[in-house]
Amino acid sequence: MKDVPNILWLEEIRKEDISSVGGKGASLGEMASIGLPVPPAFVVTAQAFRRFLVETGLDQKIFKVSENIDVENNAALEKAAETIKALVIKAKMPSAIKDDVKASYKKMATKDLIVAVRSSATAEDLPDASFAGQQETYLNIRGEAALLSAVQNCWASLYGARAIYYRAKQGFEESTVNIAVVVQQLVHSEKAGVMFTSHPISGEPLTIIEGSWGLGEAVVSGSVSPDHYIFDQRTESIGEKTIANKKVEIIPDGSHGTKMVAVDAARQDAQVLSDAEVAKLAMYGKIAENHYGIPQDVEWGIVTGTIYILQSRPITTIGKKEAKGMSGQNKDAKILLKGQGAAPGIATGKVVIIRDAKDTGAVKEGDILVTRMTNPDMVPAMRKVAAIVTDEGGMTCHAAIVSRELGTPAVVGTKTGTQQLKNGQLVTVDGEMGLVYEGAVGGMAQAKAGAAVPAAPGGGAPIITATSVKVNVSIPEAAARAAATGADGVGLLRIEHLILGLNKTPGWFIANHKEEEFVKELYDGIKIVLDAFPGKTVWVRTLDAPTDEFRNMQGGESEPLEHNPMLGWRGIRRDLQSPDQFRLQVEAFKRLWKAGYEHLGVMFPMVSHPDQFIKAKEMMRGWGVDVENVTLGIMIEIPASAIMIEDFLRAGIKFASFGTNDLIQYTIAIDRNNENVADMYQPQHPAVLSLIHNSIQQCRAYGVECSICGQAGSDPKMAIWLVEHGITSISANIDAIAKIREAVAKTEKRIILEAARNRDAE
Ligand code: PEP
Ligand code: MG
Repeated sequence: MKDVPNILWLEEIRKEDISSVGGKGASLGEMASIGLPVPPAFVVTAQAFRRFLVETGLDQKIFKVSENIDVENNAALEKAAETIKALVIKAKMPSAIKDDVKASYKKMATKDLIVAVRSSATAEDLPDASFAGQQETYLNIRGEAALLSAVQNCWASLYGARAIYYRAKQGFEESTVNIAVVVQQLVHSEKAGVMFTSHPISGEPLTIIEGSWGLGEAVVSGSVSPDHYIFDQRTESIGEKTIANKKVEIIPDGSHGTKMVAVDAARQDAQVLSDAEVAKLAMYGKIAENHYGIPQDVEWGIVTGTIYILQSRPITTIGKKEAKGMSGQNKDAKILLKGQGAAPGIATGKVVIIRDAKDTGAVKEGDILVTRMTNPDMVPAMRKVAAIVTDEGGMTCHAAIVSRELGTPAVVGTKTGTQQLKNGQLVTVDGEMGLVYEGAVGGMAQAKAGAAVPAAPGGGAPIITATSVKVNVSIPEAAARAAATGADGVGLLRIEHLILGLNKTPGWFIANHKEEEFVKELYDGIKIVLDAFPGKTVWVRTLDAPTDEFRNMQGGESEPLEHNPMLGWRGIRRDLQSPDQFRLQVEAFKRLWKAGYEHLGVMFPMVSHPDQFIKAKEMMRGWGVDVENVTLGIMIEIPASAIMIEDFLRAGIKFASFGTNDLIQYTIAIDRNNENVADMYQPQHPAVLSLIHNSIQQCRAYGVECSICGQAGSDPKMAIWLVEHGITSISANIDAIAKIREAVAKTEKRIILEAARNRDAE
């Protein structure tokens, strides 16, 4: 360990110092270093903690106790944790450390300052609270003695029973874990709130500030309707100001807690922030945004006219904050409907019920589109609305897929939405929780959560994973947002959405001799996505739309009526029988390859036998494609293809990707679009997992990339399982990339650690 002093001041700290000052310390230091008014603070470094352990001989004692703990034995674990904590609290802090802490405290203020003392964990990949007792916070600490004891208590918090258990399970060496302690002036805000440094939906240079009386908790938790200010950075003036009636505030209570009290009458309708304070806050917001390179979600507080910036995070947290705001603020809000939360975000607007796609002309900007189920011909209307509610469907239905990409909140499978809601009725849709409320509820700016760019957790550099994390795209307008996630490529580009939005079936283009128009639409749409992902593979899937999705379009009248379109004429089976339709797609691919887009790979959907792959390849060869030198692969979405995967590998597929939306429905006989059986749709059904496991193993044996592009790949739990079972890549929805990348990274690290430990044990 390098020779780091016992104390580091915020001004000396950079984000690289995380191993000395922990995550909290590093992020505060980073903010101070760019000139943000962070409350004064210093950090008792991890090195000071280590010196304390060594000089008191505690390192040996702790090692002895922890060496023999059976972490599965609860009582023994609790006892050991208590023993170690008592040892840490009782030990005499070496005088050098004690003197340094005391001197730093004096330096903060001449009179005893009230401070907050917080533990700050030093390993970067720690899960939030469970690892190092990071939750340990001592508020209202005043005087040297109280401070020294709070520091020692923070150190002891490293040895909570849960923390020890977690470390044992994750393979961390007990003798090497560290903890830092942040000592910071406590800001008892007289007014406080949050700020979005740019508009969270449009990205316009509009700073949105919300503020209320007392501690910021009131605004963050949604306990109060705050004042709302919009500062236009282009004109450097306040563009909009809404002064709310602020009935309650949260203030400190005793030495630790807080309490909610009524705001006195005089302040209830008073403007919280002066215009000058709004402008100054906006300026600080801009500094943070410029530094981090991405719009920020900032918490601030003001005491006796001094502004403090308390926290700054990428704006991706907006979705969560709103969800929290909703539940906090609207316990009394009336829930009208429940369904599945298919696309995150919250929106309020007027209901417009669409019973027939032909009526979408009635849909206006900002409406709430309520319909039985959306169709591709409704996509133009879906682009306009603030949220979407459907009677039918599950997480993988048309409405869910398109809404996620548009970043439009959606609740699907409400069963009775079109009957219960009335045209013109004002409702609020929570696309995370799957709820529709009566009226306008929720205090925070309404936002299409998906519209914000999902960044790396913590806003730092993107995490590098050995398992590629790719993204799914269906509509070209989502390409830029998809690329901004930093994804390693596109694991599924559904091209049916490129043409179905034109409201004409492929058959119509052919029947009306508009083949060139069709090829051009495909070419242009795919090119937008390829351009957004230079040098990264983009797997373009050939057409796969069930016949019912074509029905309402021009040419739809010629589509066969099928009892069960999900088992019908779709995917590669239709293309093989409709060479004209297939050839036009291949023509678009050929032109793109010729134009130098070598990163385009082609994926065939709904294959059930290797002969289909071989036939498709031969047809492409016949149309002049150098099939041995382009990337051709298959989706595994029918159990037959999972069972016969080795035959496909022998037939020369270059990759395979699990289409779990279909694989699940075909394995356990649960219609993916049927809300009546939605609760039986089990992505982790043992039979499904067994098919996936078998296919991954075979692909590995042949050195062929094995991926997933179904909705299950956007679930972190499934991602962990897939990484554990050797998947090569995961392709997730835009809104899920950050969490999937994090889950993948943690799983990979755990696997490496476990392997290293097993090796050591041998
Ligand atoms: C799937 O089946 O998992 C898949 C990705 O394809 P689609 O949802 O388009 O059927
Ligand atoms: Mg499918």
